[in-house]
Amino acid sequence: MKFQNVKGMKDILPGEVESWQLFERRTRQFLDAYGFQEIRTPVIEATELFQRSIGEASDIVHKEMYTFEDRGGRSLTLRPEMTASVVRSAIEHRLIHENEPLYLYYLGPMYRAERPQAGRKREFFQMGVETINTRSAVNDAELLIMIKSYFDVFGLQKYKIKINNLGTENDRLQYANRLKEYFTKHRDQLDEDSQFRLSKNVLRILDSKNPDLQKLIKAAPAIELSKEARDDFEAIQKLLREAGVAYEIDHRLVRGLDYYTGCVFEVTTAGLGAQDAILAGGRYDGLVASLGGSHVGASGFAMGIERFLMALEAEGISLAQALKTNLVYVAGLVHGESSCGFYRQIAQSLFRTGKQGRFSFGGKNIAKHLKQANKINAALTIIVGENEYQKKEVSIKNMTTGSQVTTPLAKLDEALKSC
Ligand code: ATP
Ligand code: MG
Repeated sequence: MKFQNVKGMKDILPGEVESWQLFERRTRQFLDAYGFQEIRTPVIEATELFQRSIGEASDIVHKEMYTFEDRGGRSLTLRPEMTASVVRSAIEHRLIHENEPLYLYYLGPMYRAERPQAGRKREFFQMGVETINTRSAVNDAELLIMIKSYFDVFGLQKYKIKINNLGTENDRLQYANRLKEYFTKHRDQLDEDSQFRLSKNVLRILDSKNPDLQKLIKAAPAIELSKEARDDFEAIQKLLREAGVAYEIDHRLVRGLDYYTGCVFEVTTAGLGAQDAILAGGRYDGLVASLGGSHVGASGFAMGIERFLMALEAEGISLAQALKTNLVYVAGLVHGESSCGFYRQIAQSLFRTGKQGRFSFGGKNIAKHLKQANKINAALTIIVGENEYQKKEVSIKNMTTGSQVTTPLAKLDEALKSC
């Protein structure tokens, strides 16, 4: 019997995982600098948390959740996204304090039972941030400006930021009525999904991906914003223009989750095909109170890591390449019980100098080792031959220039730093 991955889930193997590690390292470094602290919550939550926050009419709750009953008969769900978990945790542990914004970020797996395809998995990873106890407009503009700086860190260039404003609660209510009128008139053209949305939450029809509906959706009325919401939207746009962040307004952008209010946004990239959205978010002022917390505003976003890495690749940006300077291949031509300590000292030296080691033992053929070192893009090769070993030395070959030096094992740290 052969076991395989669960459908729509994927192993991240050595060779690929290095890009993920570098992505995570740079992300943490960036968010740390911007004042965000990491939060980790369990992968499993009470089903009701997602039903209450994401909304019954959303695709996620309606048909994508991995829900099961545990041994005690409780309904639990593998998290499909993390905003609800973060807000639950912030309320539960009283992290929200008066007059103090709470800046949190997370990295982790999410689960949705969707049809697997390129860029759409059943287990996928997100990086996300939540800014709780914050208010539009400055905060929302800052988030969008930060996204641009974050993409700059990786060199991503071909993306589009789309924004919309869902207005005040009253704006949205009136808009829902107008949409209901419009789509009821065209009910016969709606697919089963959208008929369901028409009765549950008509705004969600705008989110439909059915190509047959796009014409109808395009012709639907746009939201009419109150002065308050209009001013907010204007202020955000002004800040974006001042910061040199390019954006487009998309009146049909409503986002798939029920909890959004005010400014919402999405980032798409070229070269990803149908699954072109890499990041999405917006303001969700009602959520904290609706989950039992105080009446504080909040906003945030989530980015799909697989899609982001694919977008980088599509632009020819290689994270693995950036790691090259740290990779050291160790050609162990001498190998036996007595040489273990020798290699342990090399490993400790690599650790102290912040390098990554790839140890290979066996054979007497140095040419084969060097070929392998080149294949994995090592920057340096440490050679432990019989001669070196007897004299307690190693040779270090710079794989770019081809130059080679020999150094006592006791001075390996210094040599690695200067090679
Ligand atoms: P889509 O429109 O592609 O279904 P979504 O609106 O459901 O996306 P969000 O819930 O806003 O997505 O999640 C934020 C980001 O997470 C998306 O922009 C995308 O990059 C990523 N993402 C969402 N679902 C998946 C999935 N099944 N596989 C891989 N990445 C995903
Ligand atoms: Mg989706």
